[in-house]
Amino acid sequence: MNYKKAGELSTWLFVFSIASIGGTFFFQGTVQIILFFLGIALIVGGILVRVIFWRCPSCKKMLHLGFKMEPTKCPYCRADLNVSGDVAEPTGKNPKKR
Ligand SMILES: [Zn+2]
Repeated sequence: MNYKKAGELSTWLFVFSIASIGGTFFFQGTVQIILFFLGIALIVGGILVRVIFWRCPSCKKMLHLGFKMEPTKCPYCRADLNVSGDVAEPTGKNPKKR
């Protein structure tokens, strides 16, 4: 999994977790409990995806954990993070037309 897919996935997990926990206000009893724990599980899953996969594809250092979804350069090795495809080219090896 590349970091972009991981970022999208974790964002969706957080969205669904908010929806699940929000849903607890509309249900009672067993369904409410299930939704609550589902929401907690989705939050934990989203955090795990971030921690494990949200890394620079070049130097493997963890990117910032904020929700700014499109970092353009790695703050550590300055690799261009906007390359398409799964493998990022090392710094300066991928000149792009702008
Ligand atoms: Zn890097």
